Amino acid sequence: MKLKLYNSLTRSKAEFKPVQAGEVGLYTCGPTVYNFAHIGNLRTYIFEDILKRVLQYNGYRVKHVMNITDVGHLTGDRDMGEDKMEKGALREGRTAWEIADFYTQAFKSDIKHLNILPPDIWVKATDTIDDQIALIKTLEENDFTYRTGDGIYFDTSRFKDYTKLSHQNLESLQEGARVEKNPEKRNPTDFALWKFSPQGVQRQMEWDSPWGTGFPGWHIECSAMSMKFLGDQLDIHCGGTDHIDVHHTNEIAQSEAATGKKFFNSWMHGAFLIIAGGKKMAKSEGNFLTLENALIKAGIHPLVYRFATFQTHYRKPMEYSDESVQAARNGLMHLQNQVRNIATAGRNPENMISAAHKTGFLEAVNDDLNMPRAMAAVQDLLKSSASDDQKYTTILEFDQVLGLDLDRLDQPEDLPSEVQKLVDARLNARENKQWDASDRLRDEIQDLGYLVQDTPEGMKVIKK
Ligand code: AMP
Ligand code: ZN
Repeated sequence: MKLKLYNSLTRSKAEFKPVQAGEVGLYTCGPTVYNFAHIGNLRTYIFEDILKRVLQYNGYRVKHVMNITDVGHLTGDRDMGEDKMEKGALREGRTAWEIADFYTQAFKSDIKHLNILPPDIWVKATDTIDDQIALIKTLEENDFTYRTGDGIYFDTSRFKDYTKLSHQNLESLQEGARVEKNPEKRNPTDFALWKFSPQGVQRQMEWDSPWGTGFPGWHIECSAMSMKFLGDQLDIHCGGTDHIDVHHTNEIAQSEAATGKKFFNSWMHGAFLIIAGGKKMAKSEGNFLTLENALIKAGIHPLVYRFATFQTHYRKPMEYSDESVQAARNGLMHLQNQVRNIATAGRNPENMISAAHKTGFLEAVNDDLNMPRAMAAVQDLLKSSASDDQKYTTILEFDQVLGLDLDRLDQPEDLPSEVQKLVDARLNARENKQWDASDRLRDEIQDLGYLVQDTPEGMKVIKK
């Protein structure tokens, strides 16, 4: 079946075709590690994880590279303002290197909690400074750079088609860029490739270069790393929609100016998480929720958030509220109960997969990762007349894409049948919000020597 993906370059859905048959080079812009990721950032990483899993489900081998931005990202995306890392270091009384380490670990722990598969290659910007310098040298040789008092800049007027990703007209892009003024720039959209350390100041992170001591601009790292690790397999490059106008536009300009070749065939962007009322979630807005604050501390399993994101297509803004998390929590618990009820003792052979339902699911995910439709396909399966064995085997296969750990739910067959009957009855009662019945059944189960706990992952029944 064809896999169709939306490409921000062409602004249309098209059949995905990799550069090399059977393999996909995937680059996802990673976190700037000066603070915790917020759940908006994490929405984008979940979308990228679904993309990767869907590619794998379609039989592709995926080579996935993710960068860690540990230098060069200033508070203004257009090379103005403070260095985010040094700002984080000041805030916390630690070095920029310590801050980078700490928040990199925090990010890795977040994505593990969310069952986001780690990339094949993690790469820190500070580990590829030589590659970035080499790329800037090439741009200099190709006559795309100029020097100002604070750095080496890319001259965007020398690159044809600068707006091919943003689809904006150049004037409005220039106008937007004018907000962050730097009088020495030839064009408002020009961007720094290398910034000099300020006179008389020793930065915590700085390197020698042919142009003077300093540090790389933010965009150059992603160009250098994708070319270094993916070679010619420049298939799909992802990030959030905020990256379209500046970061990814600049990556394309500098990469193509250096190589003369197309830089990535497909660009995919995840829409924002907004909070009720329409404001985007952003660290700069001071309204950001982390996985820890929003979910873990409240006793809600992080996979509830993963499940919550499946309710909205990745190209549509997702509204976050306590109610939407509560609804997702109930939804996931319901799904887990449904799966528990069909879980069978023996593992089933391949041919038990329900082909018709698999097609329905694949059609949904292959239609530009339509997860709301995929979740409907999951319910179609569970409510169908297929046997429990067939349903269970099929849903575990779907879970290769969903990543909801549906194979790791506690198996009810360990319980004596009289206890199991009461457990089933209580699950039903809870699904129907019959709380009195639920309490009564809990007491009956406990009288038979079992403890009942309602946890974020669902009901747990343990022998006393
Ligand atoms: P950053 O760490 O700021 O570089 O952002 C990491 C990723 O999160 C990038 O792909 C951003 O485009 C994305 N992002 C930032 N804010 C949001 C948001 N509110 N909702 C979804 N994605 C976001
Ligand atoms: Zn990037």
